[in-house]
Amino acid sequence: MRKSYTLKTDEEIRKMRVAGLLTAQALANVRAAAKPGVTTLELDAIAEKTILDGGGVPNFKMVPGYFHTICASINSEVVHGIPSNRELKAGDLLSVDCGAEVDGWNGDSAISIVVPGDDSDLAKQRQTQSDVCEEALWAGIAAFATGSKLNDIGIAIQDYVLSQGPYGILQQYIGHGIGRSMHEDPAVFNYKTRDAGPKLVAGICLAIEPMITAGDQETFIQDDDWTVETMDGSDGAHWEHSVARHSQGIWVLTAPDGGKSRLARYGVVPVELN
Ligand code: MG
Ligand code: MG
Repeated sequence: MRKSYTLKTDEEIRKMRVAGLLTAQALANVRAAAKPGVTTLELDAIAEKTILDGGGVPNFKMVPGYFHTICASINSEVVHGIPSNRELKAGDLLSVDCGAEVDGWNGDSAISIVVPGDDSDLAKQRQTQSDVCEEALWAGIAAFATGSKLNDIGIAIQDYVLSQGPYGILQQYIGHGIGRSMHEDPAVFNYKTRDAGPKLVAGICLAIEPMITAGDQETFIQDDDWTVETMDGSDGAHWEHSVARHSQGIWVLTAPDGGKSRLARYGVVPVELN
């Protein structure tokens, strides 16, 4: 049985864009501060201040049992890392996931960064892995714009990732619908599924979020009950945007330009709601 999900009006999508842009600002501020010696708790405070100053609420704190604004996952940690006093080191592959709620509407976005100051081969491999994950996200968003069924997104992500090398795509962790709640139906798989999923129609709003490893896809949860780490110790990368299909086209809610620059190569022109 396919679960139902709510479609959003253009007016609601305009409100979601406010939450999306505040989420993007929080991540931009975290990115600028991610230097060797900085702790992930310090990054968490930067994101929290950005969201509160912008009139929003950190929506990760509304998740039962979670008490932070961001998730910060380093190297073999893929997602759901808890901010701590751990200091960043040059060359670390840091994934930061963040979300803001504004006026009851949610944004959710993630970036991966190689902490500056290391020009080793390992740091370059990590940057390449992050770039592959980021482009897989854009390939998925392009499929969201041009496709007819939900799983067109997963097929595009899988095809792109596997064209770039022997990366693993996480199976247990997937994207989701977004709106009044940060996590809504439908599930958004990052790979081809037997069921092509529901039709992509105006009003559908999703958080698309590929998570890839430099090795095997298998993961375990650390003793903190949150942090998802690869079984084989390979590095993980994670990128995410919240996206909307509205009455006139698509818009990337957590990208300041709505996705215009990154979608050009796919022939997709996002349409801004005025
Ligand atoms: Mg997220
Ligand atoms: Mg998400």
